[in-house]
Amino acid sequence: MLMDAMVQRMIDWVKGKKFPYFGTPYHQRHPEQEIFDEITIKLIPRYKTSYMSGDEWRFNSYVECKYRGKVFRHFTARDMKNAIMRLPGAFLDFDGNGFPDEWLDHEKKMCDNPACSKPYTSIFMMKKQFSDNCFFEKEYEERDSPLYRKFCDEHRERGDCGLDDTDSNYIEIKDDMSHYEFNPGVVEMKNLNVCVAGGSVLSTGVGK
Ligand SMILES: [Zn+2]
Repeated sequence: MLMDAMVQRMIDWVKGKKFPYFGTPYHQRHPEQEIFDEITIKLIPRYKTSYMSGDEWRFNSYVECKYRGKVFRHFTARDMKNAIMRLPGAFLDFDGNGFPDEWLDHEKKMCDNPACSKPYTSIFMMKKQFSDNCFFEKEYEERDSPLYRKFCDEHRERGDCGLDDTDSNYIEIKDDMSHYEFNPGVVEMKNLNVCVAGGSVLSTGVGK
């Protein structure tokens, strides 16, 4: 069964297997993820002192763009208006130059629920791929890579409303094929203590 093969690829990959031609699991971002999920703009007062020109209060705006709790862009501007007008540049910089390695490394470690700043604790293979409006559904083919997302304990429950990001579209990867059942789709993973997708560590007993 093709779905069994996809699950086996996930397990092999988590255990460190390399896939030279095809089949390497592919991280499927949540459709509502943002480059930055928290942006703050503050007016910062400072008291300037000078023997020559005198003392006075001066004001600058300071912008911080965070992604999952970590600052990836920050700059000062003359005032709030200038700060806001420069803000699109922070997004365009990402779009034009590609995502920085530091951002991608951070993404690999974190839960995929948009704006969550906790490390993931469980990996879930997606049974099918849907378009953003959920009208298109793609079945796996032999040469496909299994798609996966990862969530923390707080966000591992995805609900039963949607099609793409819903409990019924995920198989949790936890063990080996001997424990695998397609429905409800939990794969146990014993004694696993390896780096997954760039740095986080799964340990035995994580998740339900
Ligand atoms: Zn989370």
